[in-house]
Amino acid sequence: MKEKILISGAGIAGLTLKNLLERLNYDVYLCEKEDTLRTQGAGLLLGANVLKIFRQMGLEEQILQKAQVIDAFITTDAKGKELDTVDFKQIYAKTSYRSVGIHRQELHQILFANMQHTNLLFDHELTNFAQDDKSYIVAFKNGKQKRFDHLISSEGIFSQCREKIYGKTELRATSQVCWRFVIDAPQNFERSSGYEMWGDQKRVGILPLGTDKLYCYLVATQKGGEEKLSYQEVLQLFESFEGRYGQLKETLLHISPKILYNVLADTQEITLQSEGIVFVGDSGHATTPNLGQGAAMAIESAYTFYTLLQKHKFSLAAQFYEQTRLKKVQKIKERSMLVGKFSHLRSKLLQKIRNIFMQFIPSAITQKEFEKLILDGEIK
Ligand SMILES: Cc1cc2nc3c(=O)[nH]c(=O)nc-3n(C[C@H](O)[C@H](O)[C@H](O)COP(=O)(O)OP(=O)(O)OC[C@H]3O[C@@H](n4cnc5c(N)ncnc54)[C@H](O)[C@@H]3O)c2cc1C
Repeated sequence: MKEKILISGAGIAGLTLKNLLERLNYDVYLCEKEDTLRTQGAGLLLGANVLKIFRQMGLEEQILQKAQVIDAFITTDAKGKELDTVDFKQIYAKTSYRSVGIHRQELHQILFANMQHTNLLFDHELTNFAQDDKSYIVAFKNGKQKRFDHLISSEGIFSQCREKIYGKTELRATSQVCWRFVIDAPQNFERSSGYEMWGDQKRVGILPLGTDKLYCYLVATQKGGEEKLSYQEVLQLFESFEGRYGQLKETLLHISPKILYNVLADTQEITLQSEGIVFVGDSGHATTPNLGQGAAMAIESAYTFYTLLQKHKFSLAAQFYEQTRLKKVQKIKERSMLVGKFSHLRSKLLQKIRNIFMQFIPSAITQKEFEKLILDGEIK
């Protein structure tokens, strides 16, 4: 009889895992606390490291059909003066992998459409588990209980499995809040580059997505009460931004998109495996979104665990997984936190020095640094 694996949480990590692990000789179950596939979400930047994995999974074409190819990601000041550019076309020329902007919902749907629709447990929130000598007895909020040989947590930043082992999740706050929304791109809006504009303790991001959409994110240093602001009040906060954002202001004033609001945070600790349970995605290595690598790390981790499970028994694969992934997820997590701080310096003088410094670093250096960061992982 095949061993049974339960993957808990049908986000990007869980859906990628189900896709991959059902190619192996296991019975793979996926449980999700919601009663349907999550549709809420905004945009995601997926870099060459992710497209490489999607090619190996046979999903690259479907992703490219629903996504917008991004040739460059440009950082500017609040007036639109260029500070730094990462040239994704160069990465494409070297690796043959594109970087894209995609709506989270499209990514979820592609992953869902390409997996078997058996052993799916919606409306099954894992609330507890007990381990006997051979297996896990998992309890769900709906009152059901099931037995599995192995357990993988892909439950996001507030993983129940992690809380059961280590207690309440300690978040590492950034004191930054973020409003995100997706809009129809105005006609003739140039859509081959992503932008992030750095102002005075505020920044604005614009990322073109597939099907003529634009993903906008507005980040501000937390002062208190931001969660109560209306859409128009949020726009007021970013009124001083010009350049790329300036081209959108008129459009933004006359629409009322659905807004997602978050306080940006990650977790203090990284947990890749514990008590035989494997942690993939934000449940094990939540990262701030400043490098646009959270989903990428989830997909990379899922793929790494899959390749290890091709060669080893589950428990050994879990140990190798921890050894293989720790360095990279740690590096991304710390760098992402640092970029967040650097982009919201409090002192206006330091902001000026930072901007001058960034303009004078040759772009070849930042390009090389970025390539090393995202492509020098264990997935060759
Ligand atoms: C503002 C913001 C912008 C971002 N931008 C980017 C970007 O541009 N590029 C990028 O790569 N990443 C980005 N990220 C990060 C990315 O969104 C996350 O890293 C990614 O969604 C993690 O996926 P996941 O599957 O691990 O977790 P999640 O997406 O959180 O999914 C977890 C799933 O588990 C389910 N669940 C939770 N608990 C249970 C339970 N007990 N039982 C059953 N089911 C459960 C949830 O309902 C959910 O469906 C961003 C994040 C934020 C906050």
